[in-house]
Amino acid sequence: MDYPKEWINYTREELLAILSKNLSKKRYQHILRVEEEALKLADYYHADCAEVSLAALLHDYAKERSDAEYLHYIDEHPQFAMLRPYGNNIWHGMIGALFAKKELGLNNPNVVRAIQLHTVGGKQMTQLDKIIFIADYIEPNRHFEGVDEARKLAYTNLNQAVSYALSHTLIYLIQRGYPIFPMTLDAYNHWVGRIGDE
Ligand code: GDP
Ligand code: FE
Ligand code: FE
Repeated sequence: MDYPKEWINYTREELLAILSKNLSKKRYQHILRVEEEALKLADYYHADCAEVSLAALLHDYAKERSDAEYLHYIDEHPQFAMLRPYGNNIWHGMIGALFAKKELGLNNPNVVRAIQLHTVGGKQMTQLDKIIFIADYIEPNRHFEGVDEARKLAYTNLNQAVSYALSHTLIYLIQRGYPIFPMTLDAYNHWVGRIGDE
């Protein structure tokens, strides 16, 4: 697949080479599965395959960076200070997308945004945002309880799938005593009980 030059100056093959060189095998294979799942959803919901592919390939681009690198970035960019307590779970999407922008010349705002929202969701989510969020949640190597229901919902009603994923992620996090990032809560409040609204 070729991406428009205005979005990024690499072909899909070139990006794959960069990712496989810089990420663990486990992460690289997860990314390929997310792309495959996301492209199925793109086909099913008639989304732009090039945007979906690019966002899927780059969604965990910076997941394996050190905490020190993220903390340094946060120190240099005070507008991100509120991310500081939440750790890599939140940093790798919200800030990782900006690393992809800077380091790879990624220049498609829809894709940057889908990467930023892929872990936490949002009150407003485009179809691309939803596809990446859900593909990451249901890729074939996910085995948690409820994943089959999420897979079924993904191909019946994308909004219901988002709602389902957000509630189950919150339950999971709260059971373990993890802090909830405010955007995750906002997304939950928006999507749960608003099924079919948009
Ligand atoms: P991955 O990068 O492919 O492993 O998947 P994600 O980016 O979707 O999620 C990374 C981790 O962040 C998962 O364990 C989620 O449960 C977790 N997560 C999602 N929302 C929040 C949140 O609000 N707070 C915290 N602490 N973790 C979250
Ligand atoms: Fe992720
Ligand atoms: Fe992922």
